[in-house]
Amino acid sequence: MRPTRLSRLLCIWSVLLIGACASVTNPVTGERELTVMDERAEIAAGAKAHQEILKEYALVDNAALQLYVDGVGQKLAAQSQRANLKWTFTVLDTPEVNAFALPGGYVYVTRGLLAYLDNEAELAGVVGHEIGHVTARHGAQRATSQARAGWAVLGATVLGAVVEGVTGMRGVTQAASELAQSGAAGLIARYGREQELQADQLGADYLSRLHYDPQRMVDVIQVLKDQERYAADAAKAAGRAPPAAPDWLASHPSNDERLARIRETAARLKATQPGGGWADDGRMRFLRTIDGITFGDGREQGVVRGRQFLHEPLGIAITAPEGWRIQNDTSQVALVNAAGDAALVLRVLPAQLLRQTGNDHQAILRQALGATEGRTERLTLGGNLSATYYNGQRRDADGTVSALEATIVNGPAGRVFLLAHLGADAAARERARAAMRQAELSFRALGAADGALARPWRLGLVPYPAGGFAQLARSAPLTELAEQQLRLLNGVYGGRPLPKPAELVKTVQ
Ligand SMILES: [Zn+2]
Repeated sequence: MRPTRLSRLLCIWSVLLIGACASVTNPVTGERELTVMDERAEIAAGAKAHQEILKEYALVDNAALQLYVDGVGQKLAAQSQRANLKWTFTVLDTPEVNAFALPGGYVYVTRGLLAYLDNEAELAGVVGHEIGHVTARHGAQRATSQARAGWAVLGATVLGAVVEGVTGMRGVTQAASELAQSGAAGLIARYGREQELQADQLGADYLSRLHYDPQRMVDVIQVLKDQERYAADAAKAAGRAPPAAPDWLASHPSNDERLARIRETAARLKATQPGGGWADDGRMRFLRTIDGITFGDGREQGVVRGRQFLHEPLGIAITAPEGWRIQNDTSQVALVNAAGDAALVLRVLPAQLLRQTGNDHQAILRQALGATEGRTERLTLGGNLSATYYNGQRRDADGTVSALEATIVNGPAGRVFLLAHLGADAAARERARAAMRQAELSFRALGAADGALARPWRLGLVPYPAGGFAQLARSAPLTELAEQQLRLLNGVYGGRPLPKPAELVKTVQ
């Protein structure tokens, strides 16, 4: 529940990119290329954007884990074509399954992605791929092609250089929704297809230079492909439409294509070392280091448990109507109906607005939401929280009049929340009104009964039991497709060989 990080990054980048063209040698290809970003500009842009990332994302509060990932990253970077850069590797505290890089040597991996990796060599594959984007100057190339295409699209497309998405459905849908909010959907591409394939090749190359088996790079792409399959299977099981294909832009290679290409590369690299001689894959080192990290929603983001959304730091909870789903994004929580055409959206109102309006609900409705004429009703939510419901019209800054139905409620600790009724059209909102008003009434200060539910889940290590993942699933708190989720976590989704008896596997606790 925070403002979108992209808008801020965007503005920094736009400023930085207004520069003259220079000619540089690409460290990977050795070819000269015209650029708006020479190495100094890359480092400056990266350093500045890094500060923005740190404002928007918390770091995983685990010094041993940060040190470990940095150690793996530094070894890889030292083997790369740009060992001269000052490299920074950071683990971000988010359940999104993602990794990305900034020009100048900044690489990020999320705890969400770490949970799905099996060993150190796979981690090195992910990090190596991101290092590849930096060494081959992909961010700078993108900035340059955008500068040439004209300033109108610059803002939109530079986003692509910042937010990468090696992967996963959650990362993809989140990026897509944020981009849609920026009003620039459709203009935005991430790295180009050839750049992604090149980053895969570079990652595999760096792996083999450190004597990790380049086959592990194939495993990494397989992890991403399994995420895609699981998301499709989960949607099917829940009776939802399958999520949009991750290759949502034609220029982005599909995971199938990446898999086929990286298999060739791995085979070629292996042939250069006929006797093998690959180092061990560091499975135990890796697993011991990620043991105990948060899995899924964290305390800071608020957690979804069945029909409940619970946010411990804000001290609030809300219950979704039967059959609705809860979508927890960085800036808001949406309770979405089964038809997907109506949603009750929960947001924290900015403190500045409360100061301006003296925390008067009517003033908030008029000033922040443009309410003009309508019916208001005083309510008490969750037993003791005073609230004001409004159903009427609103006027935009440009004079457009539309419908507004929303409730403003005083939450704990002096915070004020907005619950907005959204619908694809008036009829959809009408149909969902009763359920949304019922959900509003459930908005409450987090109580003792909610406390245990609000506890985040953790990743744990256990010997693979005789009863397999079905047995593990029975003791895991996972609510949706527990057995399949555990298979996905352990890299055996979709019919790959099961662990040996008593082999250490990941579970959720
Ligand atoms: Zn990439």
